[in-house]
Amino acid sequence: MSGLIPPKAGRGMPVIPDLAVSSAPVAAAALPVTAKPTLAGLPRAALAEFLSGHGVPEKEIRMRVGQIWHWLYVRGATGFDEMTNVAKTLRALLDANATLARPEIVREQVSVDGTRKWVLRLPSRTAHDKGAEVECVYIPEKDRGTLCVSSQVGCTLNCSFCHTGTQKLVRNLEVSEIVGQVLVARDRLGDYPGRTPPEGAFVPNDGGRFVSNIVFMGMGEPLYNYENVRDAIGVLTDPEGLQLSRRRITVSTSGVVPEIARLGTDTGTMLAISLHATNDPLRDVLVPINKKYDIAELLQACRNYPGVSNARRITFEYVMLKGVNDSLAEARALVKLLKGIPAKINLIPFNPWPGSIYACSDWERIEKFSDLVFSAGYSSPIRTPRGRDILAACGQLKSDTEKMRARARLMLEEQLALGAE
Ligand code: SAH
Ligand code: SF4
Repeated sequence: MSGLIPPKAGRGMPVIPDLAVSSAPVAAAALPVTAKPTLAGLPRAALAEFLSGHGVPEKEIRMRVGQIWHWLYVRGATGFDEMTNVAKTLRALLDANATLARPEIVREQVSVDGTRKWVLRLPSRTAHDKGAEVECVYIPEKDRGTLCVSSQVGCTLNCSFCHTGTQKLVRNLEVSEIVGQVLVARDRLGDYPGRTPPEGAFVPNDGGRFVSNIVFMGMGEPLYNYENVRDAIGVLTDPEGLQLSRRRITVSTSGVVPEIARLGTDTGTMLAISLHATNDPLRDVLVPINKKYDIAELLQACRNYPGVSNARRITFEYVMLKGVNDSLAEARALVKLLKGIPAKINLIPFNPWPGSIYACSDWERIEKFSDLVFSAGYSSPIRTPRGRDILAACGQLKSDTEKMRARARLMLEEQLALGAE
């Protein structure tokens, strides 16, 4: 499995921010945050509840939800005035009481390789919350466009090689904030009937959708925000709306074992496991949730994952850390560990971030590791680092919390008081 990425790319490449071809605020795409709630990103039940709460007769609600749903998710409407088949009086009522605001784009960066990163500000929820920020990354290829979405602001889990884990401010994203990331990407890429991508944008050219795949590999641990992630997947896969295929949605977890089975049953999505080590003492350090659910328990949950088969393999992510987990003995241990599980192994060259204590394994070592795993019968692609120049690669995401830290404690206190999380 040699030669999947150019040899130089694996060598602990430094982060070079000024390689980005563009990095600019995108004021035009951002809708103003107002006190009115947004309907963009809501599931059907929440839309129905909103309409019912605003006096729409019960017998009309199903039909109205269907209309709004179509405008939101098939046509990408950003204003109620576009919804021409919705009665004018209802449009006025909606306009007076709601918006179709997406998360606000604070910054858009485009990498030399076509990867796009959006820094998104979420609507404020309490007096001291000036709007938390999350990041979302679009990775275009010839035949697919993958959007890497965040499920939480920050992450509580502190994996020692991950930038997101160093962020203090943590909260769960709402369903509309998860779906909103997909809407932002589709808005910016012109991924709706009759629209076109921005001049010079790199998008798939196979005639399919520009956003065809979703990976929950941005900020946060998706299974610590289970209900919202599940409901967001419901919106993303709705056959009358966004229509994404469940097999093109992958949820990555550090190993929240008790939630794995119901993820499979409820959503039918693909599963990825951040394994990163082949023995418990090392995994305890790299992925500390291992102290709660060890490797044996985690792999048992994988064997039992509903729907797992050779056609629906589980992806095991393995970050290549120089001198830490990259020996060939560990490659052999990995093969042994995964025996009997329909698996593919994604080797991820470590992406450095300011202050990280690890280095990326040497390229030759990554190739040898990959060859060994491959010759044991596993697909073992080395994940091409994308968007490194704009800090958009795996584990490099972190919102600008330095500015937010002072407010973080106040926000958390307010959330606790509200019982919000
Ligand atoms: N919290 C979830 C999903 C988000 S992280 C999880 O841990 O699975 C997405 C992937 O990026 C995970 O496999 C994670 O371990 C990996 N990752 C984190 N930091 C990284 C880094 N600096 N370099 C390469 N991969 C990293
Ligand atoms: Fe959280 Fe995943 Fe990063 Fe670990 S790797 S700190 S679980 S985002």
